[in-house]
Amino acid sequence: MNPQIGYISLIINPKSGAHSEKTLAKKFITYLERKNFKLQINYTQYLNHAQELAADAAVKYDCAMVIVAGGDGTIREVVHGLEGSDKPLMILPCGTENLLANELGYKFDFKTAVRVFEAEILHPLDLCKGNDKFFTSVGGVGFDGKVVKLVDAQRKGNITHLHYFFPILQSFLQYDFPKFTVEVEDEVVFCDRGLVIFGNISRYALGLPILKNADYGDGLLDVCIYKCQNKPHLLYHSLMTVFKKHLRSKNVIYKQCKKIKIYSDMPIETELDGDPGPALPLEVTIIPQAVKVLIPPKSKPVGMRRRIFRVFE
Ligand SMILES: [Mg+2]
Repeated sequence: MNPQIGYISLIINPKSGAHSEKTLAKKFITYLERKNFKLQINYTQYLNHAQELAADAAVKYDCAMVIVAGGDGTIREVVHGLEGSDKPLMILPCGTENLLANELGYKFDFKTAVRVFEAEILHPLDLCKGNDKFFTSVGGVGFDGKVVKLVDAQRKGNITHLHYFFPILQSFLQYDFPKFTVEVEDEVVFCDRGLVIFGNISRYALGLPILKNADYGDGLLDVCIYKCQNKPHLLYHSLMTVFKKHLRSKNVIYKQCKKIKIYSDMPIETELDGDPGPALPLEVTIIPQAVKVLIPPKSKPVGMRRRIFRVFE
């Protein structure tokens, strides 16, 4: 990119990430300044501030690009704020799970950031909507909704992977597999006990390939419904998913669509991008090609092994 075409808006969440990630943002700012880019640096101060800053940048004729440094929550706000604009978006991943950055094939070091910036490869990114809440990556109803609710209830400051251990264990011990209905494009495809995951990216937390065929820019939502009555069933589905064989099971329904609706007689927890989601009934839709993101050359989603290693780094 030529520094003459406009300034770069940097939206930084100062609260996300560990020290090493903050160094990445700092190093990248120095790199841009050395290249004579004009920068407007904003630090987010409250919820939805990133969205406001992005919406503001979207309409500025002399803003050439937006860079966001933050976790999945901050990135989601920026994508929402930029929706429909033609400003390219670059990500400096600084969160715990970094679902979207991992899907886009980002590595979290300075060298990759420079490579992404210089290659200027743009890819469309769809935005998902669950009732009135936006999300970029993945959501769920049932087991993972319960886990997220427990993690959120004990949340104080930054979340690490360790914060998930006891909520997952507790959810596993207590979960009673309530019955729910799923409609895909207004047609009932499931009415039973189980769990459902939907979204726009092929890799769930820790790289689990649940929505195996998902493409983040194809204008379609992917949905995976596991018929699941009890704990051994859940363990079986989990193992099959780890080995990427879950779509062969007769107890799994996999669809690509534009709209899904999930409802139940029971109150069932939901989650969207790792935050507690709206109460049921939940209608999920997709806004095709909401923004254009920069991706690394030859990008492919980061796999399970690398992500599990990262947890212990
Ligand atoms: Mg898609």
